[in-house]
Amino acid sequence: MTERMPVLFVGHGNPMNAIEDNEYSRAWIEVGKSLPRPKAILCISAHWETDGTQVTAMEKPRTIHDFYGFPPELYAKNYPAPGSPSLAERIRSLPGLTTAPDLEWGFDHGTWSVLARLFPNADVPVVQISLDVKKDPQEHYDVGKQLINLRDEGVLIVGSGNIVHNLRMIQWDEQAYDWAAEFDSKVRQWIHDDNHEPIIHYEQQGRAAALAINSAEHYKPLLYVLGAKEAGEPVGFFTEKVSYGSLSMRGVRVG
Ligand code: ZN
Repeated sequence: MTERMPVLFVGHGNPMNAIEDNEYSRAWIEVGKSLPRPKAILCISAHWETDGTQVTAMEKPRTIHDFYGFPPELYAKNYPAPGSPSLAERIRSLPGLTTAPDLEWGFDHGTWSVLARLFPNADVPVVQISLDVKKDPQEHYDVGKQLINLRDEGVLIVGSGNIVHNLRMIQWDEQAYDWAAEFDSKVRQWIHDDNHEPIIHYEQQGRAAALAINSAEHYKPLLYVLGAKEAGEPVGFFTEKVSYGSLSMRGVRVG
């Protein structure tokens, strides 16, 4: 028997967290050390949206530097973890889930900037699944539910995004907007209480939610993580700050 793997949601924020020593990168390193060693990692990143759900199925995924205006050191950083065609195939065989194999993508920075800290040796195979632009929030959550059995097969599921992510409102000081702090702490409470309905139906949660989620791609990976959670499982929060006014760096660990 393989022990059931935890599930993580990582608020990834600035890509520089991949190479900069700061409170987030240090927290991610500690989380990585505390995890049982997975057989493989399945990552759901905010930075891969497609028509229909796709699964990376190549042997050697490339590192994608999908950001602009950063220092050369960040473009020089690669994450050479292998892919896992067998895990891709296993995901494609899950009942109730329709996915297409992808041989083009690789690791976008939502995946590699975080895994470079969690698993710095890059020696665990990694697969990404994309966010289907046609799915509604409930359907994203339901995909997470389909993934739950993978946890018993040694697969670590990692969602990478940000619960509050409004780049239009970003400001260069650390004081959180009231609505950003409000929505982040509401989501924290809902996660803590296993009350996922208001998280799924965030569009009904008023002004703070609307400002926090001005485009939902950074929020959606959380729905996969919560879908893969069994009711009553313990949850913890390894990072909890709202930075740049409108970017929640909250990290969630299930199990
Ligand atoms: Zn991002």
